[in-house]
Amino acid sequence: MSEKALIHKYFSRHQSACENVEVSIGDDAAIICPPKNSNLVVTTDTLNSGVHFYPDCKPEHLGHKALAVNLSDIAAMGGKPLWATLCLSLPDINHEWLDSFSNSFYALADQYNIKLVGGDMVKGPLSITIQIIGSLQHEHALLHRNAKIGDLIYVSGYLGDAALGLKLIKDNNIHLPAQDKEYFLNKINAPMPRLDISEKIRTYAHAAVDTSDGFIIDLKRITDASAKGAEIILEKIPISPAMNNLVNHDNDVKELLTGGEDYELIFTIDKKDKHKLESYIESENIVLTEIGEIVNGSGISIVNNGIEIQLPKNIGYDHFKST
Ligand code: ADP
Ligand code: MG
Repeated sequence: MSEKALIHKYFSRHQSACENVEVSIGDDAAIICPPKNSNLVVTTDTLNSGVHFYPDCKPEHLGHKALAVNLSDIAAMGGKPLWATLCLSLPDINHEWLDSFSNSFYALADQYNIKLVGGDMVKGPLSITIQIIGSLQHEHALLHRNAKIGDLIYVSGYLGDAALGLKLIKDNNIHLPAQDKEYFLNKINAPMPRLDISEKIRTYAHAAVDTSDGFIIDLKRITDASAKGAEIILEKIPISPAMNNLVNHDNDVKELLTGGEDYELIFTIDKKDKHKLESYIESENIVLTEIGEIVNGSGISIVNNGIEIQLPKNIGYDHFKST
C-alpha cells in the first residue's frame, strides 16, 4: 500500500474543510483559520519506543496517550486545542496496529473537537510525534513565571497512580485486586488531559504546570520561573482510594511526589479567588486539593505535622541527566 493510500485509509477523517480549517490533509500543507483576537499556542511531544513506552505497548494506548500528553501541555497553558499534526515513524505496515492507533487517536481528538490537519509517515523505529496548535487569550495564559507570594497551590486528581501503573507494567509479580490493577494501569496508559479544569480556572489562576515528570520537579518549574518558594503540606497531598489501600499516607506519600506521568494540573490562585474555585469544585464534584502556598524565597519545602521533611534526592524524571 502506498503512503498516500495509508494516509487516506487511516488518517483522513478530518479531511474536509470546516469552520477553522480551509485546507486539510492532502495538499503540501494545511491552511488553518485562527480565531480573531486570540494568540496561538503551540506544543509538540514525541513518544519513542523503548524510551517512553515498551515496544509491546498496545496501539490503542499509544493513540490516546500521544495525543493526551500534548493536550495536557495546552491545558497547563490555559489554551484551547484546535488542530493537530501527527508524524509516525513505523518499522512496518501493520493494519491492525494502524486501525487501533487511529481509532483511539480520533476518539480523544473528537472528544475535544480537535482536527487532524496533517503529518508525515516514514519508515523507521516506532516513534510518534504530535503537534497541537490552539488558541489562547494572552491575559489568560497560565505561565510558570506568574506565581505570586501568598498564592494558594492546588493540584488536580491524585498523585502517584501512574508511577504505580508503570511498576505494574514492569513487574508481573505484583499482586493487587484486579480492579485496582486495572485502575493503576489505566492511569499510565490512558491519562486524561485536564482541559476542563484549565478552561474553568484560566480567567483567574496565575501559574500552572502539568505533572509529567513528577510533582516536585514540575512544581519547581513554577517556583524557579517565578523566583519564589513553595511550602507544601504533606498531609494534604491527595492520593486515590486505591493507593490509600496500599500505603500508609504519612510514611509513604513522599515517595509519590517524584513519580511522573500523572498529567494532573498544579496551579496557583490568589487567596481572594478561593471561593470561586470552591464553588466550581462543589458544582462539578471534581477532585482539586489545596496543598500549600507560594512563599518568599526559593525551592520547595515539604512540611509534615509542622516539621520540614527531607526531599527525596531524585526529585523526578529527567531524560538527559547522568546518574
Ligand atoms: P510530502 O511528501 O509532500 O511531505 P506527504 O505524502 O508526507 O507529503 O503527505 C501528504 C499529505 O498527507 C499532507 O497533507 C500531510 O500533511 C498528510 N499526512 C501525511 N502523513 C500524515 C499522518 N500520519 N497523519 C495525518 N496526515 C498526514
Ligand atoms: Mg512528507
